[in-house]
Amino acid sequence: MGNDRSQALKQIREEVQNLKESPLYQERVNNQTLPVIGEGSHNAQLMFVGEAPGRNEAKTGRPFCGSAGKILDDLLASIGVKREAVYITNIVKDRPPSNRDPLPEEIAIYGPFLDRQIDIIKPLIIVTLGRFSMSYIMKKSGLEDSIKPISQLHGQILEGSSLNSPIKVVVMYHPAAAIYNPKIKEVLQKDFQILSSLIK
Ligand code: URA
Repeated sequence: MGNDRSQALKQIREEVQNLKESPLYQERVNNQTLPVIGEGSHNAQLMFVGEAPGRNEAKTGRPFCGSAGKILDDLLASIGVKREAVYITNIVKDRPPSNRDPLPEEIAIYGPFLDRQIDIIKPLIIVTLGRFSMSYIMKKSGLEDSIKPISQLHGQILEGSSLNSPIKVVVMYHPAAAIYNPKIKEVLQKDFQILSSLIK
């Protein structure tokens, strides 16, 4: 089973690498950067979904490896969860120029790859990082009618469904928002405690 999953995820990697029809493909070639597909356990029960790669991520091909990633690592460590035990990915797999918000057409072209990653890994819990991920995953999990501003939904455990299987969605602020805002960092720390209570 593990090998089937790895094979299916490898196939996604290859398809994204060759995704010439993406509006961000030429950007990747011009800047000699890498697509960021995702990393972690292929049997993860917990999946984190961010927005799009930043500069460090596009340089290394690894999700959340810059300053937002350092915050995510600290939050994971605070609840005793190893990064290798979870799966970390983004909606958009190539870096939008100057880290601007992803455009609807970018979400439309990369979203199906995320959908396939979810179908392959079958996590029990998806943690959404930031408002783009929140909206995308809530829509995909049958929770569209419950979408509200992230300030009202963060830290809640939402019961959704993915391919007819129940899935829990936990909405969180994006770790990058905590870089210069200690209040958001505290909120994230509390929300991770809620996440911790869910997995123990
Ligand atoms: N921000 C994201 O949303 N994803 C990353 O991988 C890094 C920063």
